[in-house]
Amino acid sequence: MSHPDLSPATLAVTAGRPPRVQGGPVNPPLVLSSTYVSTGTPAAGELFYTRNDTETWRALEAALAALEGTALPALGFASGMAAIAAAFSLVPRGGRVVMPEHSYGVALGLAHELATVGDIRLTLVDIADTEAVVAAIVGAAATGHDERATAAVAHDDHVSAADRAEHDEPRNRRSDDGPAALLWIETPTNPMLEVADTPALAAAAHAVGALVVADNTFATPLVVRPLEQGVDVVVHSVTKYLAGHSDVVLGAALTSDDGLRARLASYRTVHGAIPGPFEVWLALRGLRTVALRVERSQANAAELAARLVGHPGVVEVRHPSLPSDPGHERAARLMDGFGSIVGLRPAGGAAGADAVVDRVRLWLPATSLGGVESSLERRRRFATESPTVPDDLIRLSVGIEDVEDLWRDLDQALRS
Ligand SMILES: *Cc1c(COP(=O)(O)O)cnc(C)c1O
Repeated sequence: MSHPDLSPATLAVTAGRPPRVQGGPVNPPLVLSSTYVSTGTPAAGELFYTRNDTETWRALEAALAALEGTALPALGFASGMAAIAAAFSLVPRGGRVVMPEHSYGVALGLAHELATVGDIRLTLVDIADTEAVVAAIVGAAATGHDERATAAVAHDDHVSAADRAEHDEPRNRRSDDGPAALLWIETPTNPMLEVADTPALAAAAHAVGALVVADNTFATPLVVRPLEQGVDVVVHSVTKYLAGHSDVVLGAALTSDDGLRARLASYRTVHGAIPGPFEVWLALRGLRTVALRVERSQANAAELAARLVGHPGVVEVRHPSLPSDPGHERAARLMDGFGSIVGLRPAGGAAGADAVVDRVRLWLPATSLGGVESSLERRRRFATESPTVPDDLIRLSVGIEDVEDLWRDLDQALRS
């Protein structure tokens, strides 16, 4: 059910509860059963086997649907990547996918793999450059633009020639063009925090018949609801802010389109990309506090970003809250907040960044993000990260601790 009268902060608390009946529980029970009593032909919606559906999933799926503003229940997946793989399965064979060059690294890895075997064609773009993205959606053949010229800009001196050649190689396969079949958006991109003009891009994609998928992991539905901005499918790594306690790996996909939901549900069932009931139960427990957590971590992130600007140990800070940030104006217009991820380039290059990660005592050196605890990592330590991400970029996932404690720890690590 969608609840236009209640705000997301309220829905996070109220949605997905069992019916109010005398003596009934206030929380959905955790049901551990692989199968259900069933004779004859199961009626539509009747539970009969846990790979297809379970009552424990339904509570989280209702809550996520309420938050993203769709009348159709979400689909829980085994991980964010399982949901992303399901979304890619919507691309017809050989269809062209337009994707931010700084998408989540493993999603980008999947796209490259699919392009390599010829299942899709891939066009990487600077998702903040609306004109270039629209040209890429329409297709170079139709516009006369050279997509590679707009997409393949390597803007970091730390990128080696070998890295660049390796990175450009799949782009060179973006051969015969024509309109895109799928536009991929991240709100904003991981880890460069580029902000897309989602309504404009969704309109351009729909004009050529392309589907639009948004990975809303970074922003969360507390900050932006992409389905309201014209996006067809939203995917989440529930692992991050929605569950919020770094204790589960889980994904979700949401849509307001019955046909798309049926295809995603079928993908989940036949690939067995299903969540475990216990993970789902834990995620719903975590989701109850998501509004408070997001509010606090966003405030902490904006405060730390503002203080990091001009710090003697800092070369560059990226956070859409900063008036100087390239994404600031667009995020202020399209989002109800600026998120809790901060990009930081400390002095001293990659070695300087590694030293900062080694010196912090409160911040947790770890991958992942969106937990109550603040964490950080140098992204290019992963080979899967785009070589156009600066080698010295540290991604800060700002948590809900006291901001002065976070600042003191970061400040001493940047100074020593
Ligand atoms: C972590 C992450 C994913 C992948 O989710 P998993 O739950 O780890 O599979 C996808 N997109 C973004 C933006 C992420 O941060």
